[in-house]
Amino acid sequence: MKETTEIREFFVKSGRYQGTVLLNEPVAQKTTFKIGGTAPLYFEPENTDSLLFTLETLCKNKIQFFILGGGSNIVVSDDGFDGAVISTSRLNDIKFRLVSGSSAEVTCLSGTPTARLVSYCTQNCLSGIEKFAGLPGSIGGALFMNARCFDLSISGLLKSAEYIDLKTMSTVHYDFCENDWDYKRSPFQCGGKILTSATFTLEKKHSDELERIAAECRRYVNERVQKGHFKYPSAGSVFKNNRDFGEPSGKLIDECGLCGKRIGGAQIAPWHGNFIVNTDNATQKDVRDLVDLAVRTVQEKKGFLLQPEIIFCGK
Ligand SMILES: Cc1cc2nc3c(=O)[nH]c(=O)nc-3n(C[C@H](O)[C@H](O)[C@H](O)COP(=O)(O)OP(=O)(O)OC[C@H]3O[C@@H](n4cnc5c(N)ncnc54)[C@H](O)[C@@H]3O)c2cc1C
Repeated sequence: MKETTEIREFFVKSGRYQGTVLLNEPVAQKTTFKIGGTAPLYFEPENTDSLLFTLETLCKNKIQFFILGGGSNIVVSDDGFDGAVISTSRLNDIKFRLVSGSSAEVTCLSGTPTARLVSYCTQNCLSGIEKFAGLPGSIGGALFMNARCFDLSISGLLKSAEYIDLKTMSTVHYDFCENDWDYKRSPFQCGGKILTSATFTLEKKHSDELERIAAECRRYVNERVQKGHFKYPSAGSVFKNNRDFGEPSGKLIDECGLCGKRIGGAQIAPWHGNFIVNTDNATQKDVRDLVDLAVRTVQEKKGFLLQPEIIFCGK
């Protein structure tokens, strides 16, 4: 790998890149878990052309990279990353158009925070996305994970998306196809596709309904607050739920007596078996050890194999 300073110089002088290039950037504070080391190279492209240029350059130079959305579903290595992190935080823009009757299409760039999209929709009386109020992270991350809130998957609202195909380094238009999606599964998880934007189909309501939509959003946020989602840094639910288990993964963990269990600075939340929280400078290893403990114990005592939903990334 070329020297990181040389690479930054190349971006600055290229005339094709708008955005920042930072060296040895700490990543923990850019994640909701507040765990992890640094990125030797940290890019924040300001538009999709600059994102494309970043991807082309890194691939040409065989530099590994990780795409960071809102950092709310990841646990970063204590040793940080090899290579680069590309943050989508500046790819943040939303617009909508009426299609026919009350149908509306809302298009946003992939780094747009889901919370911002929900409040934009509320302000414009666009209904359908209320259940995602309070979901941390970006729309790119939500689509990658096929985030699911209160029994609605984000794919249920998707009309189309645009992504950069790393094989051809070109932008590809994707039309929603039901077979590509399942519970917590998206077509972007197979690799090589970097989401740049997404279009959702929503319903345009009369302005009289603004307060009802806003109240519904507040109700979903309050439910999260009451469930203790924001008490401590975390990455949300650690394990997927599986209908075959007959009960939620968190309940199985609770029934195995693991709630409150601590390793280092990480703890299985005493109030929510499926949350691991960072109570005191936890490391990725602390979280990994708790995950392994939960998997082992639930398998021994209940006979079910828990499947992690959080992503361990970095070195
Ligand atoms: C308190 C709390 C509550 C939560 N509640 C829920 C919940 O109810 N339901 C739920 O499903 N999840 C929940 N989560 C998990 C998380 O918020 C969601 O999965 C979220 O949608 C992830 O988005 P992100 O931008 O933070 O993704 P990140 O964590 O940044 O990234 C996740 C993955 O997506 C990839 N990625 C991100 N952007 C792109 C892109 N543009 N193109 C290609 N790949 C990309 C990353 O490389 C990574 O592999 C919760 C998390 C927290 C902390």
